[in-house]
Amino acid sequence: MNAPSVPFLDIGATYVECKSALDDAYQRVMASGWYIVGNECNSFEEQWAAYCDAAHCVGVGNGLDALVLILRAMDIGPGDEVIVPSSTYIASWLAVTEVGATPVPVEPDPRTANLDPSRIEAAITARTKAIMAVHLYGQAANMDAIVRLARQFGIRVIEDAAQAHGARIGDRRVGAIGDAAGWSFYPGKNLGAFGERSRQEVCKCASGGGFLGG
Ligand SMILES: *Cc1c(COP(=O)(O)O)cnc(C)c1O
Repeated sequence: MNAPSVPFLDIGATYVECKSALDDAYQRVMASGWYIVGNECNSFEEQWAAYCDAAHCVGVGNGLDALVLILRAMDIGPGDEVIVPSSTYIASWLAVTEVGATPVPVEPDPRTANLDPSRIEAAITARTKAIMAVHLYGQAANMDAIVRLARQFGIRVIEDAAQAHGARIGDRRVGAIGDAAGWSFYPGKNLGAFGERSRQEVCKCASGGGFLGG
């Protein structure tokens, strides 16, 4: 008997489901003659910030760039340490090494696959500048405990929300709880866009501390 073939991930199904709204949007953009930034970009930034309850949203090249720009805006670089989950997509780590800082891994909570707050304190040193909390597989990290610890030690909290569009903790959306969040709209993500360098965003959160255009 031949095994049935099951597609690994059919992202084309999203197009079929949203076809008429998407076709209207393409026609509007094509007819406008404006294919980069401009009104469509501004309007998306405003709508995404509003959806996340964040104060600002800035479109950048991709999710990795978003995380790198957040680290740069926080003045994090060589000699600094950033706590990252030992289990995440590689871009969380690459953002830290890209700015010349050192990723310090902390093991996840096996129930959520996200940073285990009870293990973070032992990893904090005088060089620690930030905790990068990743909301892996659409599950929110334990932000209350992570933010409390960060405030206690005077360090920043970055949310890597590339896999968590729309995830909530109670009535709060992820991406507006730490100091800033990076998102990805790569086609295979929870909320995917179209193309290789698709729309990616950095959100500066309402609760955040005055950078990225704040
Ligand atoms: C995909 C992903 C990124 C990077 O996003 P790109 O848009 O592919 O650069 C960062 N962090 C996590 C957890 C991701 O899943």
